Amino acid sequence: MQRSTTVMAGTAGGTRPRPLLAADEWALQLRGHGRRVTKQRLAVLGATDRHPHSSADEITRWVREDLPSITPQSVYVVLSDLTELDLVRKFEPPAGPALYETRTGDNHHHAYCIRCGRVEDVDCSVGAAPCLVPSQDHGMTLLSAEVLYRGLCERCQATAAAEPQP
Ligand SMILES: [Zn+2]
Ligand SMILES: [Zn+2]
Repeated sequence: MQRSTTVMAGTAGGTRPRPLLAADEWALQLRGHGRRVTKQRLAVLGATDRHPHSSADEITRWVREDLPSITPQSVYVVLSDLTELDLVRKFEPPAGPALYETRTGDNHHHAYCIRCGRVEDVDCSVGAAPCLVPSQDHGMTLLSAEVLYRGLCERCQATAAAEPQP
């Protein structure tokens, strides 16, 4: 029996993230998508895997710990390529820069704190896109729905409660 080392998060129930992938597993993924395995790609994948929902700037900072000379521009180019390959998912929050993560292919949604911008994963309500059944489809084949849960995180609720009322 063959066992896959690249089980996607969210397929086995619960919100537990899948374990981090090792560099050689990312190398396999890259080769599988016809990409050369480069230090830059591996570093960007590793950093994004370790720090989900990070901006390109943040990822640049982490990647620079291993590759001090990498430019934000190259990180950005690598990230867009990996996003196109679906090895990385790009999430655009209502405010602030786009965020990247390696949890792909499971149609998970995001909970977003409107006060501090914290982002957390929420499993897809149905388990697959488009998740929401539209009241009408206008004859289109609907592929996905953008679901964003907005709210206040626990810490911001506590801060709000401690503030003096006007
Ligand atoms: Zn918050
Ligand atoms: Zn996410």
